[in-house]
Amino acid sequence: MVSRAVKRAFKYRFHPSDAQAAELTRTFGCVRLVYNMALQARTEAWTLRQERVTYNATSALLTGWKKTDGLAFLNEVSSVPLQQALRHLQAAFTNFFAKRAKYPTFKSRKKSRRSAEYTTSAFRWRDGKLTLAKMDQPLDIVWSRPLPDSATPSTVTVTQDAAGRWFVSLLCDDVIEQTPASGQVGIDAGLDSLLTLSTGEKITNPRHERRDRERLARAQRDLARKEKGSANRAKARLKVARVHARIADRRRDHLHKLTTRLVRETQTIVIEDLTVRNMVKNHSLARAISDAAWRQFRTLLEYKTDWYGRNLVVVDRWFPSSRLCSTCGAHAERIPLNVRSWTCRCGTVHDRDVNAARNILAAGLAVTACGDGVRPQRGNLRSGRPSVKQEHPRATTGIPVL
Ligand SMILES: [Zn+2]
Repeated sequence: MVSRAVKRAFKYRFHPSDAQAAELTRTFGCVRLVYNMALQARTEAWTLRQERVTYNATSALLTGWKKTDGLAFLNEVSSVPLQQALRHLQAAFTNFFAKRAKYPTFKSRKKSRRSAEYTTSAFRWRDGKLTLAKMDQPLDIVWSRPLPDSATPSTVTVTQDAAGRWFVSLLCDDVIEQTPASGQVGIDAGLDSLLTLSTGEKITNPRHERRDRERLARAQRDLARKEKGSANRAKARLKVARVHARIADRRRDHLHKLTTRLVRETQTIVIEDLTVRNMVKNHSLARAISDAAWRQFRTLLEYKTDWYGRNLVVVDRWFPSSRLCSTCGAHAERIPLNVRSWTCRCGTVHDRDVNAARNILAAGLAVTACGDGVRPQRGNLRSGRPSVKQEHPRATTGIPVL
C-alpha cells in the first residue's frame, strides 16, 4: 500500500463573540482595500509605463500605505491577512499571464467573498483550540467532524458567507492510504438524473432540492418586490442568501460522498468535457444549476483521483453518445430529448443516459489505450474534425464497441 502526503482543508462553522466579529469584519475590509489598491497600482504601472510590479514591490507599497495618515487604520488589524491578499493578487496575475484566467478584478464590498487568511505566525493552535492574532479568546468552533489525530493546521482561512454565517477552514497535512481498486466507469451528466453511470446506476439530485428551489424562486420574487434601499429589502436579500446557502451545502455534501465512493471503488473514471456541449446555450435555471453541480463534481473528482492514485480521463463529447448503440456500434436516428429509451436494430433496449455513459467510457478507454495516459488534452479524440458538429456520422470511427 502506498501512502500519499496531501494538504487537506477541514472547514467548520464557528460563532464569534461580538468583539471577534468586529475584528474580523475590520480585517475583511482592510484585506479588500489592500487588494484593490495593489491591483490599481499594478494596472497603472502596466498601462502607463509598461512596467510589471512584483509581489515584493506591492509589499513595499503596503509598508508605505501603513505610514500614510489616512490609512493608519491598516495597522490595527493583523498584518498577515494583508500580506496574504498581496500573495493572492500575485497568484491571480500569474494565472492571467499564463492565460489560465482573465485579468484580475477589483473586490466589491457587496459581492466579493469576505475572507482573511492567516499563516502560522498569525494564529496559535494549542490543545485543539485556535486563537487568531489580535484576539484574546479562541474561536468557538463547531467541530462537526473531528480533525485527524496529530493534524496541525498550517494555514487558517476565515470567511463569512452571504447568509452571514462564519466559517473557518484549517489546512492540514494529512496522509492518504492508496488502497488498490479495479474497474472503470463512464459518467454522463444530465438534467433528469444528475449523473448516470455506465453501470446503470442513476444519481439524482439531493433530497429536498426541488422544494428548496421552489423556496428560492419565491424568495427571489419577494426580493424583487421590495423597495430599493429599504430595510425589508435587506431582510429579503438575506432570506434569498440563506436558501442559496442551504442548497449549496446539501449539494456539496452529496457530491463529496458520491466522489469519495466512486474514487474508492474505481481505478479509471471517464467523464465528458462539458465546455463543448455548452456551446449549445440553454439558459434555463435547471441547466444552470446542473452545470454548476457538474463543475463542482469535476473539481472534486480531479483532486480525489489524484490523492488516491486513480485515473481520470476527460473526453470531448463531440460524438453523438446518446444515439450510438453501445452494444453494436450502429447509429440510431435522431432521438428527441423526451424519449428516454430506444431499441437498436440489434435488439438491445437502451436507456438513453446509461447508453451515453457507456459510450463515454469506451471513448475514454480508447484514449488511454493509445498510450496517452490520463487526462488527455482537448482535441486528442477529435482528429481535426470540428467539435461542435455532434451529428457528424463519420465522427464515430475509431470508437470501440464495449
Ligand atoms: Zn445495437
